[in-house]
Amino acid sequence: MTKRAAVIGLDSVPPELLFDKLLDRLPNFRRMAERGLRGRLRTCDPPITVPAWMVMMTGRNPGELGIYGFRHRRGASYVDGYIVNSNHVNAPTVWDVLAEHGKRATVLGVPPGYPPKGKPNLSLVSCFLTPSQEKPFAYPAELKEEVLEAAGGKYVFDVTFRTDDRAALKKELFEMTEKRFDVAERLAKDPWDFFMMHEIGFDRLHHAFWKFFDSAHPKHVPGNGYEQIDLEYYSMVDGRVGRLVELFGEDCATMVMSDHGSKAMKGAFAVNQWLEEQGYLKLKTRPAKQTDIVEADVDWASTKAWGWGGYYARIFFNVKGREAQGVVEPGELEAEKALLRKKIIGIRDDRGAPMENRVFEPEELYGTAVGDKPDFVVYFGDLDWRSAGTLGHGSNYLAENDTGPDDSVHSMDGVFLMQVPGRDLGGRVLEGLRAQDMGATLLETYGLGYGAGRGSRGVREIVEACR
Ligand SMILES: [Zn+2]
Repeated sequence: MTKRAAVIGLDSVPPELLFDKLLDRLPNFRRMAERGLRGRLRTCDPPITVPAWMVMMTGRNPGELGIYGFRHRRGASYVDGYIVNSNHVNAPTVWDVLAEHGKRATVLGVPPGYPPKGKPNLSLVSCFLTPSQEKPFAYPAELKEEVLEAAGGKYVFDVTFRTDDRAALKKELFEMTEKRFDVAERLAKDPWDFFMMHEIGFDRLHHAFWKFFDSAHPKHVPGNGYEQIDLEYYSMVDGRVGRLVELFGEDCATMVMSDHGSKAMKGAFAVNQWLEEQGYLKLKTRPAKQTDIVEADVDWASTKAWGWGGYYARIFFNVKGREAQGVVEPGELEAEKALLRKKIIGIRDDRGAPMENRVFEPEELYGTAVGDKPDFVVYFGDLDWRSAGTLGHGSNYLAENDTGPDDSVHSMDGVFLMQVPGRDLGGRVLEGLRAQDMGATLLETYGLGYGAGRGSRGVREIVEACR
């Protein structure tokens, strides 16, 4: 029987890379897959780091959390936004519940984890959204010194991945991840009942290098010098995971999970430019060069709807009584929504084929939707196309991302892997695993009353394996 659980969170790892392409060459992950349990882990809508980790660790959906991505529109303002931080998470996480039940938890870098919201029994190090290591990034405060010492004086929260200097990025990326595991090893030696770490490096690897290592990417150039970088990076982490699991000990079940998958980007679709063409967004002057919606000369008093860029699009209607210069009558909003939805679904791609876009209202996805929600969540072409919020392009179909080099987008399935020391679980493939079930599953492994038998068969197998 296991007494403890540890989660190794690998941001953005897709089953197609870890299970299908690389597993045979990653001895530690392979052993886990062969002797443990594994499966595809369905993420939330939208498949974005913030909120996905909190969906997993609180068991609440994005609508319940009121967190729909990194950035949010502030109230009913037009372009004023804010970045989510840990204070926006109001639901208790797995570690909050465990700490309240007297279990000691150690949590390294799970987003959004800044500022660190610590409490008794809980040791926290903040996440990749931390502004700098000068800030108080750990709880209790003295933990900061331990982290800095383990990281050789300089801890790295994140790298700047939208850059053309791939050689420098590669070096920084590998260094960052090595330091994360150095710190994880140090923290794993302290006493704990629950341990969790998060590594953002995979997400950065995928966004910055996908076209280099994926020969099927439309912009792949053979002999580019980074064709093996996926194997190199995953191998480095595989070695570090092997060492870390050793430290976790014989009474600890280890789970590896990712918050969403990744896949090649086809291009970016200029959503605001399209809305302008369709008469929804009105400009006083059309920009001659690429211009962010924040900088654009928008005639808000004549604008019916506008959008935001990102891996998915957000659309906002300009509603009378809600937005300061609203024009859509509240009584006409539903009809306007139905019409725009139909138009978005009818958009064709750069070759004239149906783009197969999907449009959701937050309430359709989540039941309830609190906080600063968009009116529409839009996926262009099953997310193969990201959304470009900028204006001033010669075409609505952009070959490159408008906010810097980026060659991958997010996909709906992440990974789940687990192993229990001394037990052969037969390498079974679990079906139906959902990100939102992971929090209750983890708590149930500690017998914390979320109801045995609840959730999918896969979830029950995970709990059973820890008994
Ligand atoms: Zn992510």
